[in-house]
Amino acid sequence: MEAKKGKIIIISAPSGTGKSSIISKIIDIPDLALGFSVSATSRAPRGEERDGCEYYFLTPEEFSRRVEAGEFVEWEEVYKGTCYGTLLSEVERVTGEGRNLIMDIDVKGALNVKKRFGDEAISIFIMPPGIEELERRLRGRQTDSEEAIARRLGKAEYEMTFAPKFDVRVVNDDLPRAASEVEDIIRNFVNKQ
Ligand code: ADP
Ligand code: 5GP
Repeated sequence: MEAKKGKIIIISAPSGTGKSSIISKIIDIPDLALGFSVSATSRAPRGEERDGCEYYFLTPEEFSRRVEAGEFVEWEEVYKGTCYGTLLSEVERVTGEGRNLIMDIDVKGALNVKKRFGDEAISIFIMPPGIEELERRLRGRQTDSEEAIARRLGKAEYEMTFAPKFDVRVVNDDLPRAASEVEDIIRNFVNKQ
């Protein structure tokens, strides 16, 4: 059966759980017809990140200007002084290509998008197997300073309290297994009338 397009798949989890790893495993599966929602952020690029691929990197001033201009579907100050948001132009770009939009956003943004799009959206919460493993993954990624790791771990406990509010929860223990579970959930959702 061909997938009905223009649906919204929201992926959320504490930083370091494996959202990006799961999304990169499923993004090119042909029948899911996914298109990644490139968010805007006021933070600087990390490692190999390039503008327009992982994020649209905006200065804090440009980010605020676009907030004022009403260009965001949603935005949040995810970390103190650092904002992330989904541009309406990005939702239109991906759905206009006849694709299903997959977004990697924080817990509050996720619930806001779910509220706005209702049955056209599914919210998926990815859980780490435990806090020690989350710390190991954040360190292993080698992209964050000690300070950033502490900040992300500090926030993880709070973020986990949002899990019951999502449509579904998937534990990322073994990556191929978790990615396959997310793939099945998305396939069922996009094929639903
Ligand atoms: P997020 O996008 O949620 O911040 P990443 O996808 O960047 O997380 O994953 C964080 C780190 O954990 C990466 O180094 C990644 O390779 C690793 N990782 C992801 N999933 C697993 C897993 N199931 N088991 C072990 N390591 C994992
Ligand atoms: P990172 O700095 O590790 O790339 O991302 C930090 C956090 O910002 C992650 O929890 C990610 O899900 C969230 N995030 C990324 N893009 C958006 C967005 O457009 N909106 C919201 N609300 N959160 C986002």
